Amino acid sequence: MSQPDPSLSIANPEPKDTDALQKLGLALAGLGTLVLFLSWGNLPIPHTLGLILAIGGILGGISLYSYRFYMKQPPGIKNNGVWFKSLINRGVLGWIVGVILTGFYVLLYWYPEMIGFKPEGNEGLVAMFDPLSQFFKSTSASQWFVYGTLYTLAIVSLGVKFLFKYRHSTYQIKRTLSVMAAQLLMAYLIPEILAGLNYNDVTTQEGEYLGYYNTDLKNTWPLDYDFFYDWQLDAMQEEAYQPMGVLFLIIGIAMFLLVTPILTYYVGKRWYCSWVCGCGGLAETAGDPFRHLSSKKLSAWKLERWLIHGVMVFVFIMTAATVYGYFWNTGEVFGLNIYSTFQQPYGFLIGATFSGVIGVGFYPMLGNRVWCRFGCPMAGYMGIIQRFKSRFRITTNGGQCISCGNCSTYCEQGIDVRWYAQRGQNIVRASCVGCGVCSSVCPRGVLNLENGPEDKRYDMPPIIIGNDSIQIDV
Ligand code: SF4
Ligand code: SF4
Repeated sequence: MSQPDPSLSIANPEPKDTDALQKLGLALAGLGTLVLFLSWGNLPIPHTLGLILAIGGILGGISLYSYRFYMKQPPGIKNNGVWFKSLINRGVLGWIVGVILTGFYVLLYWYPEMIGFKPEGNEGLVAMFDPLSQFFKSTSASQWFVYGTLYTLAIVSLGVKFLFKYRHSTYQIKRTLSVMAAQLLMAYLIPEILAGLNYNDVTTQEGEYLGYYNTDLKNTWPLDYDFFYDWQLDAMQEEAYQPMGVLFLIIGIAMFLLVTPILTYYVGKRWYCSWVCGCGGLAETAGDPFRHLSSKKLSAWKLERWLIHGVMVFVFIMTAATVYGYFWNTGEVFGLNIYSTFQQPYGFLIGATFSGVIGVGFYPMLGNRVWCRFGCPMAGYMGIIQRFKSRFRITTNGGQCISCGNCSTYCEQGIDVRWYAQRGQNIVRASCVGCGVCSSVCPRGVLNLENGPEDKRYDMPPIIIGNDSIQIDV
């Protein structure tokens, strides 16, 4: 039996030797990132070369490094030393990354010209993506094309890392492949290819070009909050855009009225949050190292319920006002301007600031599911179904629990899983996204994600705020 490396300790639990392949991986990823940053100042190399170096370097480098790093170790739980690393424990590196991410989102949403987006001819970072945009759809890149490409790159490259890290869990492998494929195909490649074939161009009967209809095929209302906006409804009904337009309208309505409640009833909200959604995909891959930062406090649980349901009510009211305004052909409802009272504040506060700037920019401060836990109206909608009318639950084999707390620590939704496990109580919580990481990091195999008869979900009265979590006669 091999002896443990004497240089390892609780504070330094991973092998320190970085071999040649790992160094090569780090160098490639570093080069790719450097090219991205330098492109801001108009790199004196052809855009295509810059793009290949950036995307190839990051994807290849991260994959190579992760392969080597994790395959040198036996399969199993790999969260060593998380509380000692500056990047993932709110240290200096964590703050630096947080500020860079937040700053990038601010520029993207409100100052795209500062990353080089110029309708008369791109510069800097956006210009470097022009060749790829030209390849797909014969137009220059927009800041959203750059964002979509980088977003997809992050999910795919860090998804590869996740696959090596959690290779001991079939569930983690399957759902990670699923979010990677959903982002790559449904949100990126297929929409861009459709755009290239002019399937997304919307024109009037006279041939006047109205714009480009963005079809992220996995986005669904209420996460896709502008689905019922006038311009979207008009575009989907344009004659020149048929049959695609009506098809998207029918699919969009069926998604939230039928598909979402039915699937959530059968398997819980995990079918979307952990297997399909782009926000969840980024959180699970790029955000995985930060999952332990989610607050487990009761006050956070209380705040979560107010915020997520508040956003949900907001989006319902905004959409009702929007649809009313559309059919009655008025820009007002009860004397309130629909755009400035509902749509504009929602877009600024929730669509941009909460989901983007805070939702991703604050990963290193607040954990990887800030948006999914506190803000996403889709998660709120599915959460109500999951809590009251679903077959999904996490069962716990309490007799095996050693109270190590791994499950609670790595629950990105801030659920105190151990509390349930110690009592052998089923976990039925609106916020659980079914990521399965609590189960994957449990050293005793206590936790199982299951679907089963509804009436067997509550083996004991559910833990809820207000009943002091104890309703059992002992
Ligand atoms: S309880 Fe488990 S499956 Fe649910 S969100 Fe937390 S870690 Fe994921
Ligand atoms: S359920 Fe597993 S991970 Fe959670 S405290 Fe018990 S033994 Fe530890």
